[in-house]
Amino acid sequence: MKTDTIAAIATAMAGSGIGIVRISGEEAVSITDQIFHMPGGKKLSDMETHTIHYGHIRDGEEVIDEVMVLLMRGPRSYTREDTVEIDCHGGVYVMKRILETVIKYGARPAEPGEFTKRAFLNGRIDLSQAESVMDVISAKNEFALKSSMKQLSGAVSDAVKEIRGEILHEIAFIESALDDPEHISLDGYGERLELTIEGAVDRIEKLLASSDNGRILKEGISTVIVGKPNAGKSSLLNTLLGEERAIVTEIAGTTRDVLEEQINLNGIVLNIIDTAGIRDTDDIVEKIGVDKARKYVKDADLILYVVDASTNLDENDGEIMELLHGRRTIILLNKSDLTPLTTAEDIRAHVDKDCPVISISAREQKGIDVFTEQIREMFFRGEVTFNDEVYITNIRHKTALQEALSSLHLVEQSIADGMPEDFYSIDLMNAYEVLGTIIGEAVEDDLVNEIFSKFCLGK
Ligand code: GDP
Repeated sequence: MKTDTIAAIATAMAGSGIGIVRISGEEAVSITDQIFHMPGGKKLSDMETHTIHYGHIRDGEEVIDEVMVLLMRGPRSYTREDTVEIDCHGGVYVMKRILETVIKYGARPAEPGEFTKRAFLNGRIDLSQAESVMDVISAKNEFALKSSMKQLSGAVSDAVKEIRGEILHEIAFIESALDDPEHISLDGYGERLELTIEGAVDRIEKLLASSDNGRILKEGISTVIVGKPNAGKSSLLNTLLGEERAIVTEIAGTTRDVLEEQINLNGIVLNIIDTAGIRDTDDIVEKIGVDKARKYVKDADLILYVVDASTNLDENDGEIMELLHGRRTIILLNKSDLTPLTTAEDIRAHVDKDCPVISISAREQKGIDVFTEQIREMFFRGEVTFNDEVYITNIRHKTALQEALSSLHLVEQSIADGMPEDFYSIDLMNAYEVLGTIIGEAVEDDLVNEIFSKFCLGK
């Protein structure tokens, strides 16, 4: 089937040194031949694949730019189709003029993600790899980049394929035994199948467990700072940020709305939400702050509870501490530079036993190292390094794994209930198919279109 030849500007639409106009499809080379003029009248179509050529882009007689052209013939290209990349000057106008000319001579503008979609449809990469391309582009830290590169290299696909392979083996066995009962016996098969399922369940659970850590490493720990007014929440935030971002004042209840900041503590990213103090109030503005605090405490990965150690605990603290039960919390006894009225012991009497209490002084920037260490310990068992584990960071993959897990649990149930073997097949097949959606097997066109529409233009 003949496919359109597509073209797009692959670099940012902003003035820069170099811009790239990318063309892919059967006519990529013949279109370029009409507009790309090489010295001595040579033609790009006569050139070897994977070579670079100097010349000018012309629209008829008009010279548009002096360029270098890269030729990559399929299938040795990103899309597996013939691909031409025009390295031109990176001005927005000149890039647009070149793209227009390419379109005038027969290409059509590419949709967002269409190059990668072709790489997927032409079988060069599977769906989870294609998705990781976008993650590589949007990666904002070392972990995000490494885990997306790992997914791009096929690590997630391999893990999924292995489990699928085992499931398919069992489905095939059941089918052939049912077809040929004289030669293939299903005696004792339930127990054997149970073992295989257990192994698959274990691996899926491990992948699912990686998704929480993966998210935290990739996006940061969503952190909320709570504490009654004047405890030093804004001061702590400023100390962590290293600049006067939040307004610090002596009047109780001034940090009224929610502030959100991202900070990087030696590789650990905290997405910090600073809320107004939680306390009973009739003030409508402050109430909003309090309600938000309650909501954020519920959704946060980590709660930092700031206590003013130079005052006594009061009913406001009591109210806050109630919210903290069962939540990952670090208690920061602030203002340790002043004479203490509240000690770690006073607090420990009211909160979960394993909840760390650390003395700090936001004003004098003391105790912050201990605090950083504590976070490292809590979330990464002391180490923030990327290990060889496969991390699931894509929510679509996570949902599919959860569905596969439920189907496998149903098989376990059927075995326990002594159901006939053909019952197993149905749920095994469900698990097999839903795992297949991760790598893009048997997925609906709509889903494929939706995934690629999130891509940027030219990729
Ligand atoms: P918030 O209402 O919880 O955000 O508290 P602020 O950060 O606005 O601090 C209230 C007051 O306490 C300000 O005057 C701060 O300068 C002061 N403060 C904050 N941290 C410390 C500290 O570690 N030591 C001392 N002595 N004062 C502090």
